[in-house]
Amino acid sequence: MDVWGDLPGQEKAITALRRAVAEGNPAHAWLFTGPPGSGRSNAARAFAAALQCQVPDPEQRGCGTCKACITVLAGTHPDVALISTEKVNYQIEDVRTLITKAQDRPSTAPWRVIIVEDADRMTERTTNVLLKSIEEPPPHTVWMLCAPSPADVLVTIRSRCRSVSLAVPTRQSVAELLVRRDGLTTEQADFAARVSQSHIGVARRLARDEQARRRRDTTVRLPLRIRSVSDAVMAAAELVELSTAEATASSTERAETEASSLRTSLGLDADSPIPPQQRSAFKALEENAKRRARRATTDALDRSLIDLTTFFRDVLVLQLRSGSELVNDYLADPLHAYANASRSEQTIAKIDAIAEARKRIWTPGNPLLTIEAMAVSLRPAK
Ligand SMILES: [Zn+2]
Repeated sequence: MDVWGDLPGQEKAITALRRAVAEGNPAHAWLFTGPPGSGRSNAARAFAAALQCQVPDPEQRGCGTCKACITVLAGTHPDVALISTEKVNYQIEDVRTLITKAQDRPSTAPWRVIIVEDADRMTERTTNVLLKSIEEPPPHTVWMLCAPSPADVLVTIRSRCRSVSLAVPTRQSVAELLVRRDGLTTEQADFAARVSQSHIGVARRLARDEQARRRRDTTVRLPLRIRSVSDAVMAAAELVELSTAEATASSTERAETEASSLRTSLGLDADSPIPPQQRSAFKALEENAKRRARRATTDALDRSLIDLTTFFRDVLVLQLRSGSELVNDYLADPLHAYANASRSEQTIAKIDAIAEARKRIWTPGNPLLTIEAMAVSLRPAK
């Protein structure tokens, strides 16, 4: 299978990218936009693979089987870097490091490609540092920035990039991908594609991980349990706890691995004390891990709020009799009951309250208070 096979529903973008590969002289900066889960970084990675592909005929590049294609897709090609931030925002030093890297000649391949995930997570000052390199890139460097929409990056950057916009894949195409690539049954794949609203990554996790399915189910049912202020406070605590559990499990494991490999590289045994001159290195590692865990927790909480929104989105669909399909089809009965007991304006106010909370969890402060305030406004109207 060639490198384009894992991009369901993106035929238009693929045609444009293939043409750029065949012409052999790609623009030096690209902006991939599309809603989360549409496969922005996958599209950038496929494009990078096709640019580095070793097949002689330019029309056929992106074969998916040569060493260059395989290593780019696996993330191990020496001339293709994929950068994502594990913090809430990119730090200016991160971007300086990237720019230094962009100056290097590629070691084996025709291009040095730098893929920046979440380019929207850059402050204006950081973006301005990046801008200089995008304005006058070394001839062999190709930047690929990914963001939810063109409006999420500064216009000065946007105007220098060639834009590739990805569509929201259809539920059907996501389900087909899960069946073909991940070996899921049609039923599992349909359910996952539906409740994730075609978010490929989320769909895959839900389909494979029973814990994740259970967490989502608990989240979506929360509104059914919120009657009083004290219910709301309890539901908020549970929501934050579910998201933290999801994020901590993976962060802790990684922090331990990092600390133990730092020990090994310094020649320290697992239980020998850290010499004073090495303490700062361990301290830095710990700080980094803490920041990463915070970002992972906020990401998980944001995802839960999106899941929660689907409950009210479905209620609104029923109240407006729009005839659209329910995301949480399997909860049709409670959704009908909830819809009959309230009015659409009230539902819209609840959707707004969740949207407001989604914004506020990214700002400094105690997320639990934000979620409590939101949960209180999710009580059914009298
Ligand atoms: Zn190839």
